[in-house]
Amino acid sequence: MSSSTDQDEFNDNLDSYDVIIIGSGPAGYTAGTYTSRANLKTLIVSGTLPGGQLMTTSEVENYPGFPNGIFGPELMMNMRQQAERFGCIIIDDAVVDVDFSKRPFMITTYSKKYLSKSVIVCTGASPRKLGLDGEQTFAGRGVSYCATCDGPFFKGENIVVVGGGDTAIEEATFLTKFGKSVVIVHRRESLRASKILQSKAFENPKIKFLWNSSVLDIIGEKKVSKVKIKNLISNEESEIEAGGIFVAIGHEPNTSIFKDKLEMDERGYIILKQNSKTSVDGVFAAGDVHDHRYRQAITAAGFGCMAAIDVERWISDNND
Ligand code: FAD
Ligand code: NAP
Repeated sequence: MSSSTDQDEFNDNLDSYDVIIIGSGPAGYTAGTYTSRANLKTLIVSGTLPGGQLMTTSEVENYPGFPNGIFGPELMMNMRQQAERFGCIIIDDAVVDVDFSKRPFMITTYSKKYLSKSVIVCTGASPRKLGLDGEQTFAGRGVSYCATCDGPFFKGENIVVVGGGDTAIEEATFLTKFGKSVVIVHRRESLRASKILQSKAFENPKIKFLWNSSVLDIIGEKKVSKVKIKNLISNEESEIEAGGIFVAIGHEPNTSIFKDKLEMDERGYIILKQNSKTSVDGVFAAGDVHDHRYRQAITAAGFGCMAAIDVERWISDNND
């Protein structure tokens, strides 16, 4: 751009919104329902996984309102239609860059640039993967990343949990309610988890540990039946009969496009300053992108609602 007049003319030709929501999981769709119902001109950019993490699972049994459960993709299609019903525009594109240095904010996707008075970041988080072929083949058929979500599907089975942090130990303990046995496979010989969680797990007769070990392969036909393990000291390989494997080796928030633009903690989760406000005035965040504690669809949807209400108030307070 050669001058500010050129820049103004360029901006005049861009589609402009009251709020742009980045991400289309439970947080994004809920925020979109609230802001569009409040007559704010709203755009949701869905990202490469329209509907978010629940699109990768089968039955969701703990989302309120569905006494017999609901399939993840069906729940997310319902949420999408609910947002659209109030005029929310949803595009299946991904954001590649954001300019939060001045208002209106500029949002760049693969195909277009947009302007917006406010932004809600709902880009979620992705469970860290082991990177094995079997992990992808049996996703939703014995391989899981969430014990709270999928534990009840493994009643009476032998279960493997991978990881040595708080999540792995907490999930393994929770899974003993359902499984016949739980084997924790950890790559070192001491746990990273807090002492209190460790001692609960050590005392639990259903939990066994395989130290200095890693998962080599996940084997099965229609669903997981065995897990292949390698001892990292002796290099010995063995197989465990198991109906399920829970991978609990950490999550990674989807925040790379916000690096140096929004304040984040050391793991890349967005830090909220007050309610749903981020470090940039006018930019809000909701869901797993800031919440590494609860990581549930209902909590993400709740955070989406909160951010939408904060945006409404912020826009009216700023007289925009
Ligand atoms: P996500 O659902 O992670 O959605 C993030 C969105 O951001 C996606 O649409 C993605 O495309 C988008 N995005 C990312 N980057 C960009 C970008 N650059 N531009 C635009 N968009 C972007 N919870 C339960 O309560 N019950 C369950 O039974 C349950 N089962 C689960 C099963 C599995 C297999 C998994 C993985 C999770 C499960 N969860 C369950 C957890 C639940 O799915 C998450 O807590 C919830 O989806 C988080 O919602 P969110 O809106 O914060 O983010
Ligand atoms: P984490 O603390 O990062 O632990 C991840 C675990 O997975 C570590 O034991 C790590 O091994 C292992 N790991 C990482 N990559 C691996 C790989 N590629 N293959 C095999 N193993 C791998 O993650 P988290 O357990 O999800 O916890 C995240 C945060 O949430 C932590 O701050 C935790 O304290 C907190 N949290 C708290 C609670 C609670 O207080 N009740 C519950 C859950 C989570 P190494 O140990 O060898 O690195």
